[in-house]
Amino acid sequence: MKRTIIRTIAASMLALGLTGPLQAEEPLSYTNEIAPGVYSFGGGNGYHSMFLVTDDGVAVFETVSSAHGEKLIAAIGEVTDQPIKYALHSHNHWDHSSGGKVFQDAGAETVMHAQAAAWLAANPGMDTSPPDIVWDGNQDDITLGGVTIEQHYLGLNHGLGMIVYVIPEKRVGYIADLVTPNRVMFSIVPDFNIGEWERTLGEILELDFDVAVCSHNELPADQVPNGCTKTHVEEEKQFIVDVRNAIFAEFQKGTPAFEIPGVINLPQYAHWAHYDDWLEINALRVMLDLWMGPYPWTPEG
Ligand SMILES: [Zn+2]
Repeated sequence: MKRTIIRTIAASMLALGLTGPLQAEEPLSYTNEIAPGVYSFGGGNGYHSMFLVTDDGVAVFETVSSAHGEKLIAAIGEVTDQPIKYALHSHNHWDHSSGGKVFQDAGAETVMHAQAAAWLAANPGMDTSPPDIVWDGNQDDITLGGVTIEQHYLGLNHGLGMIVYVIPEKRVGYIADLVTPNRVMFSIVPDFNIGEWERTLGEILELDFDVAVCSHNELPADQVPNGCTKTHVEEEKQFIVDVRNAIFAEFQKGTPAFEIPGVINLPQYAHWAHYDDWLEINALRVMLDLWMGPYPWTPEG
């Protein structure tokens, strides 16, 4: 049955804002060693973090919120007595960058790209705190216990100051929001530049990792703790191409613009999470992007 876009958006907002977790069936909280000294962590709330344990302390990837952070700190304590030295924020959005103070109180320094820090200074959230270390440019590496953490700023794609992390010697990465295995695009595709997102995914495929922790992961529950792979990066990229091509074909057929989202079907993705409730609003967003030109966009890129 065809749903109206407004009803679908309302349902998405309800799922996001009022009920908290985005998934009906939440995997339980977990900690899983995905490479020697590198652990994935799920908060049971639809958000997945990562931490690296070295002989000189621990680095945390993605604080999410104070509640998530407290559970994460407890999970780290189950694995090691090493102190938490760094807590890395992937990008500006409140639902990822909150909870820093929990880690600062635990003795860690929080780290963020300058673009994300500038946005958060102007738009502080209820659970955000100013970062201790702010860096600018395209790459900045941290060495902890002799292990190098690469921080890659790959330009405009989603939000501001979005960082993809790679620990080359572990062949592990951390990717927020840009790759969501087994799920269509997020709801109304907020704050994504579609074309730059696709470009970024191509660049992520060139980075030095085999396995990554993805902040959101809709793989079967028994696979979630193992993270995502470059196959999932390729699938995300292909989904963008397939949605855009389907919309472009409707434009060429002369389908009126606002009828296009309702006629887009991509049955090869029907098994992905939120296919039924989000594909139409995904298509509305991508259609507008093709119609208006890419957005959002900044001169800084
Ligand atoms: Zn985001």
